[in-house]
Amino acid sequence: MPLKTCLFVLISLVFAGFSSFSQNASDTLHSSMTGLIAPLGIPLVLSGNFGEFRGNHFHTGLDFKTQGREGFPVLAVANGVVTRVKVRPGGYGNALYLKHQDGATSVYAHLSLYSREIESWLLRRQYASRSFGVDACPVTPVYFTQGDTIGWSGNSGSSGGPHLHFEMRDKHQKPVNPLQWDLAIFDSRAPEVGRLWVVPVDSRGLENRDAVVKVNKGDTVTHSAGFVHLCVEAKDRLDGASNVCGIYKLEVEIDGAVFSSYSIDTLDFSVNKDMNAHAYYPAWKSSKSQVHRFAPLPGNRLDIYQKRPAENLMISAGETTSIQVKCWDAHGNVTSCSYSIYGQINSKESVTTAIHSADHNPKKTVAALPNRLTELSVDGMSVVWPKYSFYSKETASLSVMGVKEMAVGPADAPLAKPFTLTLDCPAGECDYWVAERRNEKGKRAGVEVCECESTKLTFSSSKMGIYHLIQDTVPPRVLPKHSASPIMENGDLIFHVEDALSGVSQVSGFIDDQWVLFHWDPKRKTAMYHASDLHHISGGTQTVRFVAQDEVGLISEWSGNVTFP
Ligand SMILES: [Zn+2]
Repeated sequence: MPLKTCLFVLISLVFAGFSSFSQNASDTLHSSMTGLIAPLGIPLVLSGNFGEFRGNHFHTGLDFKTQGREGFPVLAVANGVVTRVKVRPGGYGNALYLKHQDGATSVYAHLSLYSREIESWLLRRQYASRSFGVDACPVTPVYFTQGDTIGWSGNSGSSGGPHLHFEMRDKHQKPVNPLQWDLAIFDSRAPEVGRLWVVPVDSRGLENRDAVVKVNKGDTVTHSAGFVHLCVEAKDRLDGASNVCGIYKLEVEIDGAVFSSYSIDTLDFSVNKDMNAHAYYPAWKSSKSQVHRFAPLPGNRLDIYQKRPAENLMISAGETTSIQVKCWDAHGNVTSCSYSIYGQINSKESVTTAIHSADHNPKKTVAALPNRLTELSVDGMSVVWPKYSFYSKETASLSVMGVKEMAVGPADAPLAKPFTLTLDCPAGECDYWVAERRNEKGKRAGVEVCECESTKLTFSSSKMGIYHLIQDTVPPRVLPKHSASPIMENGDLIFHVEDALSGVSQVSGFIDDQWVLFHWDPKRKTAMYHASDLHHISGGTQTVRFVAQDEVGLISEWSGNVTFP
């Protein structure tokens, strides 16, 4: 289906009645629809786009740069009613969901502040539920007209700097590319397509990821004949910023025939983590390079492929296979690149033997398949990968390096579901254990909290690799370093909170034994009581108690007298 037709069908189906589609649409997508205004009144520059790789998922919206500052008015893109206000320390931080008349929803995240009406409802709600985190809809409907200020831009949640994360979702809450609307975002730069990655596949169907060959644009490489998986480096940048963004569409021709194609018009939160199986995972994991597989792995459930090859590509001996890659961004800019592979007669098949970094003993391996539960036990330790954990055929492994040290592999394969590892409690001790995952350099890459039941310890993780068990015996640290009392700033009361290992799970505070709201920001490691809440006595000295708990349940508490200005 041609791009324009495809878009027209999508837009007509999902947003019929919401916007009008111009019959004279140009080749650019952004000029093809009207009906939404921009959510910011400043020039629109993107630091992130729809469909780029992020963490373990595709990014589901647009990230608008806000000139390094917070506090720009965020505008309702169309008339709508507030259906959800979600406040949490991480993730989207302060987010607002606005539902429009056709059932579509716009989402605004990382806000510093909501509109006055929402703020006063939110504060009442937080005090009533004695909780900073809120995920609710105002009982009295709050309506916004297109262009109204719904709140102010910020840097709340897991945001890495001030910006506005903006999403459009269809009536099924599936995110759609907001660039389908006529927003004044300019992009004259074509996608950047780099090297072709050739991953040999052995006769058992296993990838030999240690034998990847990278081919420059226009080059011909001589490669052993046999089955291969192909991938390509592809990313995009837009006008006005150097931020690396994602591509919109990729089409691959092999020897003149279309082999595979995909485009990211809509995403689906329920399978969005399968980005790990769309990407060449080892490249994304180790260097955050966006390397796209031509053929999705068997367990990949993403509905973004127009042409999904049925089988692996065969490189024939004595023949040249030519590969043409065509890559689009959402504004219609195109880049085409070609590569060739000459098949060399194979004297001996290179069978995948690598189990990677940890070739320790004792170790066990087993063939793993996506549709089967996989289990391994070594020296009283056992790992279970539930059915549909693996995206493709792999050699699963468990190496025991010590009573508190193990490697679960292969570390360069993505998982759709977490594995669970069970072992005897080290030294018979049950409490405060965490499993620390370490990268190749031995640095901490993640922490999983362990559960303990009748002398058995378990933890789960979606990332394979080397794990060390450590006991977290240090409670969170409360107060600024080297200080005996919290900070008072413009009447606001601020505690610094941090936990070195398992992380802070919750904070709470009380004035004269009454619960008060502390805004908890893990990124800045601060918990703040706002004087504007008026739950204190101005000019009075009151008892303040502040409690912080870490993920293993250790508690720190500060209490003392505080004089409020
Ligand atoms: Zn974002």
